[in-house]
Parts: sequence; C-alpha cells; structure tokens
Amino acid sequence: MQSALHRNELEVFFQPQVKLADLKCVGLEALLRWKHPDLGYISPDLFIPVAEQQGLIREIGSWVLTTVCHQGSEWLEQGLDFGRIAVNISGIQIRQKDFAKLIENTLKKTGLPADKLELELTESYIMSDVEDNITQLSSLRDLGVHVSIDDFGTGYSSLGYLKQLPVNKLKIDRSFVKDIDTDVDSYIITRSIVALAKAMHLEVIAEGVENQEHSKQLTELGCELVQGFLYSKAIPAEQVKEWLSSSS
Ligand code: C2E
Ligand code: CA
Ligand code: CA
Repeated sequence: MQSALHRNELEVFFQPQVKLADLKCVGLEALLRWKHPDLGYISPDLFIPVAEQQGLIREIGSWVLTTVCHQGSEWLEQGLDFGRIAVNISGIQIRQKDFAKLIENTLKKTGLPADKLELELTESYIMSDVEDNITQLSSLRDLGVHVSIDDFGTGYSSLGYLKQLPVNKLKIDRSFVKDIDTDVDSYIITRSIVALAKAMHLEVIAEGVENQEHSKQLTELGCELVQGFLYSKAIPAEQVKEWLSSSS
C-alpha cells in the first residue's frame, strides 16, 4: 500500500453532483482509485480500511487533498465552473490535532479558495467523538471550508448534537436512495432526512441516484441536489472539462 503512493499508482477521479431542476453541476466528489499494475483498478472500499490499519491514511489523505486542491485551482484558472470539490476524510485524519492547519496550508499552497472545498465526513465518525469533533469542525468553518455529513441516516445521529454541529450539508446514504421507489421505509427515511435538513437550514444531497424512478421520487420529496450513475460515474480529471461543457 505504501509503495502504491510512492509508485504513483494512486489517482483521483471526480463524480459530478448536480441540481435536479436544471442538471447543472454544483460540485464534484473526489474519489480515490488505486491502479494496481497487475490487478487493475482496486476499489477504495477495499484499500482505505487497509491504509487506516497500516497507519498510512494520513499520508494518503494529505496527498489526496493536495492533488484535489491543485486540480481545483487549475480548473478555476481555466474558467471552469465546477461549484465545490468534496473530499472524503477519514476519522483518523480529523482526529489529527493540526488537521485545520493542514487544510489551511494546503489551500494556501495550492491557491484554492476555501469556499471551493467541501469535506465529507461520515456520520458514524462525527458521532463517535462528537465533543472533540465539534471543536475541530468549528476551526474548519472558521477557515471557510464547507462540511458535509456522509452516509447520513446510517450512524444514529443524536439530533441534539446535530444542532450544535458546524456542518453545511447532509448526504443521504445510498442504501435509502436505492430502494426509494420500492420500499416504504426507505421512502419515509429519505423524506424525514430532507425535512430535517430543511428545518435546520442545511443543504441536502442524495447519492446513488441510478434511474429516473429515483430522481422522480427525490423531486417529489424536494431533494434538490443529486449524485449518481444516472448523471455520471466518477471520471478521470481529464474528462471533467468535457463533461462540464456538455452538461451546461
Ligand atoms: P462514498 O463516500 O459513499 O462514495 C460514494 C461511492 O458510491 C463511490 O464508490 C461512488 O463511485 C459510488 N457511486 C456513485 N454513484 C453511484 C450509483 O449511482 N450507484 C452505485 N451503486 N454506486 C455509486 P467508490 O469510489 O468505490 O468509493 C467507495 C468509498 O471509498 C467511498 O464511499 C468513501 O467512503 C471511500 N473513499 C473514496 N475515496 C476516498 C478518499 O480519498 N479518502 C477516504 N478516506 N475515503 C475515500
Ligand atoms: Ca463520500
Ligand atoms: Ca456515502
């Protein structure tokens, strides 16, 4: 795993996030890929847990942040309007005492404005050590970076804490979106998350939108932002420009 980073076998792909009303791009989620010389592309679901266990996630995470911020800054220079770039952050990274400083330095070094960066943290990580995380997230908010709670609905959020958390967005987990048109519980949970986000003045996005039925139900529920294979899978950086011009 360590050699993967040093042999330049890691790559960042980007998956567009769009507004349902006009399908315009509002953001890009950065998704890590490991291009193994023999095995081909390996899923981050397989290698991120290994990187965490081996104590490599901070190094890999910093590399992802720098790569993404550089890329975003370059796209801005080219006049591309991608909205925000969202980066997945492991709980181990956010627990670093100097994490906000690392973000601040990365933004400075790459020239990406803070409000172009969004950090995705899973609900289970945030809720596992909520008091400390509130402090960390507040420093990030002070920088002007956006924060989104990933896999929302799976991590037993305490609603009391949710009110205190300096976050901007809830990301409805794919497991609910997948069955939204066939399973009444998934539909009701999704409806509740959209209502909760609105009541708390948070943005809300649904991930894993794969077909017209999903998008129809989400439109009815008033979920305005979506991401999924129906719009685009994660694509290499070189294809982003073309995707943006074909979608606008
Ligand atoms: P995630 O953050 O929940 O990312 C969404 C995953 O769903 C991505 O898988 C994406 O390709 C996939 N996806 C997107 N749209 C659809 C759809 O319509 N249908 C289905 N079935 N899947 C869809 P991916 O890229 O394999 O990433 C898996 C997980 O690995 C991510 O889940 C995230 O937790 C983690 N990950 C990816 N990149 C990074 C990274 O840079 N750092 C960290 N710490 N974790 C990462
Ligand atoms: Ca994510
Ligand atoms: Ca997710």
